[in-house]
Amino acid sequence: MSASSFRTGLLLCLLLVSGCSQSPELVRHRQFFALGTLIDITMYDIDGAAAEQAGLELEQLFMRMHADWHAWQPGILQETNRRLATLEDFPADPALLPLLDEANRLSRLSDELFNPVIGKLIALWGFHSDERPDGPPPDNNRILELVAQQPSVTDVTLHDGHLRNGNPAVRYDLGGVAKGYAIDRGIERLRARGIDHAIINAGGDLRAIGRHGERPWHIGIRDPRGPGVLAAIELGDDESIFTSGDYERFFDHDNQRYHHIIDPRNGYPADSATSVTVIHTDAATADAAATALFVAGPELWQTVARRMGIRYVLLIDRNGTIHMNPAMQQRVRFDTEPAAISLGEPL
Ligand code: AMP
Ligand code: MG
Repeated sequence: MSASSFRTGLLLCLLLVSGCSQSPELVRHRQFFALGTLIDITMYDIDGAAAEQAGLELEQLFMRMHADWHAWQPGILQETNRRLATLEDFPADPALLPLLDEANRLSRLSDELFNPVIGKLIALWGFHSDERPDGPPPDNNRILELVAQQPSVTDVTLHDGHLRNGNPAVRYDLGGVAKGYAIDRGIERLRARGIDHAIINAGGDLRAIGRHGERPWHIGIRDPRGPGVLAAIELGDDESIFTSGDYERFFDHDNQRYHHIIDPRNGYPADSATSVTVIHTDAATADAAATALFVAGPELWQTVARRMGIRYVLLIDRNGTIHMNPAMQQRVRFDTEPAAISLGEPL
């Protein structure tokens, strides 16, 4: 992970969760790095020994998911991509298959604006690297070639535990959904241990279950063009909140910013939004939807949100206008009243 994404993760963790009113001895934390960010697990109403055991189990779980699903380091995903490229049947790895299934389902729902098989494009843009990516942008012809091959999750079929791919352009990159999916698995483990009040926060993207005293959770929405927080959103008893932004990984070249969320329709960084925040019960759906709606932009976000079953969206477009559905507007408190708000139809 790059130093800049480390700092961003830390900043978000420190900024984004507030409102704890419980006495400190009932609140337990465990922090570690996985999936490219700082993972912060907060558990409430639990004794020290139980928190220690749960924290350890989750740290080991996240470390394994990190290794198994990594897009550019050796592991199960890399091996799966290698075998998909042969266009021959092979047995799917059980440590990856449920995530592939979920990613494929969410991709179809999003009209493939969330497209987890554009790994070749993302590598071409230089984002498959631990270093901070650098310009110039890739050759236009190479981008167009990959787009023309239309890698799609519909190219990948599953029969009797075997995978088969019919398109050599397909390469999985699960960066747009893995964090959410991992958080859901983490929450399952906590609940299995009887821990019902907790947050798993991955660099500001998080799922919160249960309560923490009398006051509700408040989550800050980062200003995509400034250092601070733009607004606060109240979170319910079991909700996930995910933000996709163009400030998370990018490089500048000739005064132009090239960031890590690629529009599968043209192969270039999606350029109509700067940040999209989504609330949903499960974290995997919220994660994939934030990425999809970022690509969808101000024109299409409502259509795609409806298809994906998303009921709360806040999208900031490249002119700074804030697009929301009415239900989201009810839950947002702005630090300073925004210059322009575009209120959509109910979702
Ligand atoms: P997120 O921060 O969840 O929006 O995920 C961004 C990451 O998802 C990128 O770093 C890529 O690894 C991957 N990605 C980029 N564009 C897309 C896309 N259109 N669909 C799915 N994943 C994408
Ligand atoms: Mg995402």
